[in-house]
Amino acid sequence: MSSTFTGWGFIGASTVAREHMLAAVRAQPGHDVVAIASGDAQRARAFADENGIRTAVDRIETLLADPSVRAVYISSTNEQHRDQALAAIAAGKHVLCEKPLAMTVDDAKGMVAAAREAGVVFATNHHLRNAATHRKVRELIAEGAIGKPLFARVFHAIYLRPQVQGWRIHSPEAGGGVIFDIGVHAADTLRFALAAEPVAAVGMAQAGFLSQNGVEDGVMAVLRMDNGVLAQIHAAYTVRHADTGFEVHGESGSIVARNVMIVRAGGEVLLRDAQGERAVPVEHEGLYTIGVRRFCEAMAGRGSPAATGEDGVRSLETAIAIAQACRTGTLVQIAAPG
Ligand code: NDP
Repeated sequence: MSSTFTGWGFIGASTVAREHMLAAVRAQPGHDVVAIASGDAQRARAFADENGIRTAVDRIETLLADPSVRAVYISSTNEQHRDQALAAIAAGKHVLCEKPLAMTVDDAKGMVAAAREAGVVFATNHHLRNAATHRKVRELIAEGAIGKPLFARVFHAIYLRPQVQGWRIHSPEAGGGVIFDIGVHAADTLRFALAAEPVAAVGMAQAGFLSQNGVEDGVMAVLRMDNGVLAQIHAAYTVRHADTGFEVHGESGSIVARNVMIVRAGGEVLLRDAQGERAVPVEHEGLYTIGVRRFCEAMAGRGSPAATGEDGVRSLETAIAIAQACRTGTLVQIAAPG
């Protein structure tokens, strides 16, 4: 194996690993997935065989002891992220961890601190900020295309595919529920596109017809950002026929991005102002491919990951504030970063 080869270990025989992240790693020259760890030996073996992965293990310690594994991608259920990430960091691996980073903000901060101390790259897999559409929205706002931004609206109400309806809809202990799952992505995308931080949240959640055990399957929330923008989030698992979207309305114009809260590259960005409406050209590329590429560059000492560990902490903190606001019916303040 050449010295420029980077082996990845995947922790979690998950859907997102199978459908998106394997290909994203394999799209990077000199990178491949060499090991998969699952809590279940048979699932690990099946995942390895189906996907041409050399090693299948049922203990993460075995994967972490493998010297050919330099980078670890964690996509287990949410409550496992913290311990698995801390173990990987302690073993000196660079870690790309799924969102939400952890079940509490303190745990997520601990993961970031441990990685900093160990001198390894630690990143959060918030894919949406890699979308050409969201990057264009951020660019348009930054260059003043709509004047002072005032309001944002995130439409992320979808119908949850049956194959991922497990822990998400019935296991609060695994970090299930639409706020931790989709709300955290909406929060991250708002932070990215607006280049602003949430300072307060209000919201109401719903258990419509899919979820059980006190898990919410729909939410409407409003965030106040530190630049004064009010941002509305509608996230759900139960809406069969809505489009997704992201809008920002400013003093002199509006940006309307359609079909953009998605996993595959696509969607469109429209700019509306006194000159009328026009489509803004974007060059689409795979969201996960870009995220992994930025992670690989960071491992090579070039730049920072697309979404850092700190981004994961901040977006989790926002999701937790929304959940608390829904639970208590109050406005929840979100502390400034740092
Ligand atoms: P899955 O439900 O597919 O997998 C989660 C875990 O469930 C796996 O790690 C696996 O455990 C276990 N599992 C998988 N298949 C089975 C099965 N047939 N029977 C029993 N257990 C099974 O989850 P997702 O892929 O949807 O999500 C995984 C993580 O990735 C979550 O943290 C989620 O928030 C995140 N995610 C992120 C996305 C993004 O765009 N950034 C998109 C989708 C998810 P084991 O570890 O033991 O193998």
